Amino acid sequence: MLIDTHCHIHDVETYKFALTRQQAGKKLRRVLEEDPDYGHYPLEISDFTGEKIISRAEKAGIQKMITVGTSDTDSRLACEFAERHDNVFWSYGIHPDEATSVAESGWNCPSLESFAYLVAIGEVGLDYYGKTSAEDGDFQGEQMKLFEQMLQLARDNNLPLIFHVREAFDDFFAILANFPEVRGVVHSFSDTKENMMRALERGFYIGVNGMATFADDFPLPPLERMLLETDAPFLTPVPFRGTINEPAHIRDICAYISKIKGESEREIAKITTQNAEQLFRI
Ligand SMILES: [Zn+2]
Repeated sequence: MLIDTHCHIHDVETYKFALTRQQAGKKLRRVLEEDPDYGHYPLEISDFTGEKIISRAEKAGIQKMITVGTSDTDSRLACEFAERHDNVFWSYGIHPDEATSVAESGWNCPSLESFAYLVAIGEVGLDYYGKTSAEDGDFQGEQMKLFEQMLQLARDNNLPLIFHVREAFDDFFAILANFPEVRGVVHSFSDTKENMMRALERGFYIGVNGMATFADDFPLPPLERMLLETDAPFLTPVPFRGTINEPAHIRDICAYISKIKGESEREIAKITTQNAEQLFRI
C-alpha cells in the first residue's frame, strides 16, 4: 500500500489550469496513451473527475490520499471532497502566497473540531522566491504573521503541519523556535543538504515528489523520515513529464526511490506508508 501525502485533487479548476500549462506535452501524451502498462492515459479534463482520479490511484496501489488546502475557500473545497470520497483526507491551510490578501481582507480563525477527515494544517509556511520588497511590499512580515497564526491553529487543534518553504529557511526555523512541540513534514523539499539536516534534527519528515526524478543532485532524506507525495496536478515524475500529475504516480516515485536507495519497492512502500500513518494518524 502507498499513500499520497500531498495532492490537490479536490478542485477541477486546478486541473484545468494544469492542463493549459501542459500544451507542449501533447505529443508525449499521445505516446503514453498506447503504453500497455497504463492503458488509457488521461488526456482530457473529463478524465480528471474525483472518481476517475481515485480509481486510477487505487489500481496503482495508492489507497490513501491527502488533498491539501491552499486558502480558506480552497480548504473548504478540500473538506467537501474528502467527505464525498473514501480514503481521501484533507488539510486546512493558507499558503504563504495568500499572505498579502489575508493581510488586506483579514482571516477568521475557523473552528476545526467538528470536521471529519481533517488530518493536518497545511500547506503553510514561507515562500520568498521571486519576491522583492519594491514590488511586493512587506511580504516577509505578512507571511511570517500568517505562518504564526497557522502554527497556533495547529497547536490549538493538536494537528501536524504540512510546511511549504522556499528560499526562507532561516526565518522558518527562527519562527519554529517558538513552537517547539509542533510536528510536521517539509513538503516538496528542494533546498540544501544543510537545511534538510536542520529539518531532520527538528524531528520533521521530508516530502519527496516527482522533482526528485528530474532535478540534478537532489538531496534525499533517510527512509525513516521520508513521505511520498505527488503535489498533483503539478511536478509530474519522469518518464511522464509533459503530462498532468495525479496520485497514481506515487508508484513511479516509489520505483525511482527504490532504484536510488537500493531497496525493494515493497520496502519503500512499507516504510513511507508507516511514516505517513504515524504523522497524520490515518
Ligand atoms: Zn502543494
